[in-house]
Amino acid sequence: MTECIFCKIAQGEIPAEIVYENEDVVVFRDLNPQAPIHLLAIPRVHIASMNDLDNAHAALAGKLLLAAKTVAAQEGIADSGYRVVMNCGEGAGQTVFHIHLHILGGRPFSWPPG
Ligand code: AMP
Repeated sequence: MTECIFCKIAQGEIPAEIVYENEDVVVFRDLNPQAPIHLLAIPRVHIASMNDLDNAHAALAGKLLLAAKTVAAQEGIADSGYRVVMNCGEGAGQTVFHIHLHILGGRPFSWPPG
């Protein structure tokens, strides 16, 4: 998707503070952090939202989760606790339609989320 901002980050066309990447996944700091640590894990391929996942993406979805685990350890929040969130659709707060996991840590979190 040529106009997708997260595709452009994955392709290095616009800057982001990348903290981890492999051949399938890129993780970078959120521009508007909601916690001391707020990272976004994206696949390099364009998938608009959770609703667009299918069986062909099963391994990739797992790789996103494993990347979240890796960066949580890297950022020092694995033991204190962290939250992994995926907003799907406008009603859930999704604003960028390239699937992404939020990884948040460094402060306490309440439940239920707002
Ligand atoms: P969501 O609302 O779940 O779609 O999350 C989109 C997230 O992307 C928000 O937390 C934004 O702050 C973040 N964001 C948007 N543009 C950028 C960017 N260029 N670099 C880093 N984070 C971004």
